[in-house]
Amino acid sequence: MLAGKGETTGMAHVDWSLEGSAAVLTFGNPPVNSLAHAVRAELVAAIDRAIADRAVRVIVLVGANRTFSAGADIREFGSARMTRSPNLHQLIDAVESSPKPVIAAIDGMCLGGGLELALGCHFRIASPDARLGLPEIKLGLLPGAGGTQRLPRLVGVEAAINVILSGEPVPATAFAKTPLLDALASGELRAAAIELAQKVAAGSTPARRVRDIALPEPDLAALCDFARNAVQAKFPQYPAPVACIDAIEAAGQRFEEGAKVEQRLFLQLLESPQSRALRHAFFAERTASRVPGVTDATPVREIARAAVVGGGTMGSGIAICFLNAGIPLTLLEADEAALARGVERIAGVYDAQVRKGRMQAAERDQRMSLLTPSVSYDTLSMADIAIEAVFEDMEVKKTVFAQLDRVLKPGAILATNTSTLDVNRIATGTRRPQDVVGTHFFSPANLMRLLEVVRGDATAPDVLATVLKLSRTLRKIAVVAGVCDGFIGNRMIEQYLRQALFMLEEGASPQQVDAAAEAFGFAMGPFRMSDLAGNDIGWHIRKRRAAERPAMKYSKLADKLCEMQRFGQKTGAGWYDYAPGDRNARPSGVVAEMIAAHLRELGRATRQLEPAEIADRLVYALVNEGARLLEEGIALRASDIDVVYLNGYGFPVWRGGPMCYADQVGLYEVARRMRQFAGLPGDPQFWTPAPLLQRLAERGDSFASADQSAADRAQSGGRS
Ligand code: NAD
Repeated sequence: MLAGKGETTGMAHVDWSLEGSAAVLTFGNPPVNSLAHAVRAELVAAIDRAIADRAVRVIVLVGANRTFSAGADIREFGSARMTRSPNLHQLIDAVESSPKPVIAAIDGMCLGGGLELALGCHFRIASPDARLGLPEIKLGLLPGAGGTQRLPRLVGVEAAINVILSGEPVPATAFAKTPLLDALASGELRAAAIELAQKVAAGSTPARRVRDIALPEPDLAALCDFARNAVQAKFPQYPAPVACIDAIEAAGQRFEEGAKVEQRLFLQLLESPQSRALRHAFFAERTASRVPGVTDATPVREIARAAVVGGGTMGSGIAICFLNAGIPLTLLEADEAALARGVERIAGVYDAQVRKGRMQAAERDQRMSLLTPSVSYDTLSMADIAIEAVFEDMEVKKTVFAQLDRVLKPGAILATNTSTLDVNRIATGTRRPQDVVGTHFFSPANLMRLLEVVRGDATAPDVLATVLKLSRTLRKIAVVAGVCDGFIGNRMIEQYLRQALFMLEEGASPQQVDAAAEAFGFAMGPFRMSDLAGNDIGWHIRKRRAAERPAMKYSKLADKLCEMQRFGQKTGAGWYDYAPGDRNARPSGVVAEMIAAHLRELGRATRQLEPAEIADRLVYALVNEGARLLEEGIALRASDIDVVYLNGYGFPVWRGGPMCYADQVGLYEVARRMRQFAGLPGDPQFWTPAPLLQRLAERGDSFASADQSAADRAQSGGRS
């Protein structure tokens, strides 16, 4: 039962109270009042009761917890609970067909099914700071409970297209002059809604149903054609934008006819691989924060001051993340000259934002004022966390950690931004391995959302909990990984890049490989990506790996490229040529000649590789290594791997990540295709399916079902 001055109704989600002749139904389902089945059922029962009650003349719907509703419970999507009566349509019908007028009193968020419910009401009043929107498109869907039919009737077709296709919440004030809102509440919302109810009860404001309003658009077909052409060109992979426009166009018909079109299109989208992938990605992000050994009760340490050691590419970006979050930060460099360059990098990012009008000069100055440049470790004694971002070299890192261990106060967190190195070895060089953790940011660190959090053998649960909380403060999505060479993301990318190079040795050009990867949907093919990141970074890491794992077979092509000092965009030459100041990659004759000479040396016959084969080999290289990471417990869940690839490596979001994509293809097919690749030159071991992948394929299982079984085991007491 909700708290409030209502009487006891035996309902868990709806509070009933009578204010004069208005029945005020306050519905709640923390945290965002999602319209799950139980809420819908209680709302319909409460409305029926209000209709039957002679003392009631008007009904007011208010969301508890100062928010109306963020919409349907998306955990119900695609399950029987979604359609179970009363479904959202039946609830909205019950509201709209009520003989007593229903008023929606809108506070906070009014999104998706929440807004569709409000559109079914006869009147709407909102707080000025309420936000209204239909975000279904972000999950590859359309608003399927009348949103595409009722919204255009109230705000016009063009505005409805904008709201539905952007999916973004819009401030209530933007609708103040449209029939969508009958009033903006000047004071407290509930009181204003009751005041409106009194006017409605007095009969001074006639009630009307949105479905009965004629669509105010003389050029409906032309407008929709224009919008369809625009979205088809912009989002060729997604069916949802066109379906949204088709549904909006159907609002030109009688409501019942248009609603049928909306429903048919909604169900089609619900089954589409794109929507499945987007829904998977949505849940995967939320699940990633669940980590064994960390609970709501795990204490967290306070992070009031931070330090970053190394002000290069990564250190400067990491520093900006803290400054943006309002956390004072000391930047430590090896010498004054390097320090000045680091501070310059940070200031440069802010200056560019001011120039582009994205930030006020005063805001830049305020953020820069939180930065303390330093070349002395002794200035770090107040830091609650220090993140090391110096060269990727174990000896250099150990020296830095020895210094941090010397100066940091007890309880401070010692973090490393290493991309590949052994966090346990770094930790054992200190007297406090429990306080050491990996925080692997992605470049550019101030923009990329992913943070791989590397849990060392000794990392204390409260250190992990603190870093997970900090990731939210820094507006990052954290994924926890165990210790291994490359953790989740870079260990998989090693296999992907090895495979890309093997394909060059079979006759493909860098352009063909990149084009196939980009046609699959990657933001950038492997060679353009290496040119952007800097080919020398991989070269440096390969040298270490060659010493540590001499059996690993690698094409020599990447090393030969680096021996020519072609490090990528920063040197104007890599796998491609770059004109000064231009990021456009142009095919390089020198590289083509270098590859041709290499092939002559190998003395191997070459062939034409089809784009489908190239894409399969790149993606399945990721999938196979992903399966190994799962089996070794480095990644906790297949969905975590997907979060890493979607947010750190430009994997197409509409494919849901490599593991989700493999599930959609079917693991049996994936393993079969790997065996077909087994005879190819390169590394004969490469295409042996990982044991976990093999087992799942044989059982007809998926990575998703393996994730689910692990979660079930964890819930029933067994630790995953
Ligand atoms: P970088 O060469 O741009 O910067 C390293 C900085 O560390 C330099 O400014 C250098 O002066 C400074 N430094 C070196 N030794 C120092 C010391 N003893 N004390 C203080 N400062 C010192 O390198 P980067 O690309 O920023 O990489 C830093 C770390 O981040 C590496 O471990 C790297 O593997 C990791 N990383 C890099 C990327 C990337 O894309 N560049 C992405 C993720 C992680």
